[in-house]
Amino acid sequence: MSENALPAFEIADPSEVVAAIDAVSAGEAIFADCDGTLWAGDVGDDYVRLAAARPELFPRSTAAERDVETYLRRVDHDYEGACLQSALLSQGVDRVAVFAALRSTLAAELRPRRWLLDAMLQAADRGVKLWAVSASGRIPVDVGLDLLGVADRFGVIAVEVDDRGPIAPWSIGFGKVHACRAAGLAAPAVAVGDSVWDGPMLADARHGFRLPKPKDDGRFDASAADLRAGR
Ligand SMILES: [Mg+2]
Repeated sequence: MSENALPAFEIADPSEVVAAIDAVSAGEAIFADCDGTLWAGDVGDDYVRLAAARPELFPRSTAAERDVETYLRRVDHDYEGACLQSALLSQGVDRVAVFAALRSTLAAELRPRRWLLDAMLQAADRGVKLWAVSASGRIPVDVGLDLLGVADRFGVIAVEVDDRGPIAPWSIGFGKVHACRAAGLAAPAVAVGDSVWDGPMLADARHGFRLPKPKDDGRFDASAADLRAGR
């Protein structure tokens, strides 16, 4: 699959995204990518760094699978393979121990995109269903949501593994739509993402928005209320 095959989306204005989320009705759904969308950074990358630093927590992994430089190079030329490499680290781990280790690593640094989280949680308060849809593995995504204090507010579609490997269809690139369908989810009212790889999911939604990268979002830490008020 080439990136050129993916639908193109202009970078959306945060105020328009808040307005679209505000218009979602109870019972409808909002899908959000995680890394670079709900929060700055990539918890799938952090998961590989944790494996490199604490190999004893990842008993089924090889040194090559824990090599951060190899992984980061792979992200650029084999995105799906890189995402699977990170997710597969979870094979055979003690979930509680790995969750705690990653949580303490990320506790000081995971930054939410405040206006997006505000708007989504306020939508959930009036009965909108929230789904985190990520190409990172289930454990790192659960850690991210836990650190944001919203683990009980989101359903999660992430890359899950069992003893045989990744569980298909996995939520990477075009796979995000397939994985959501396999989980019984209909196309959402609103979907948000930050990369070309979110294109199929954005195209599947009634309103799909490609957000600016966190470093390019001048309102990253602003509240949804600020954006609604034009502040
Ligand atoms: Mg992303």
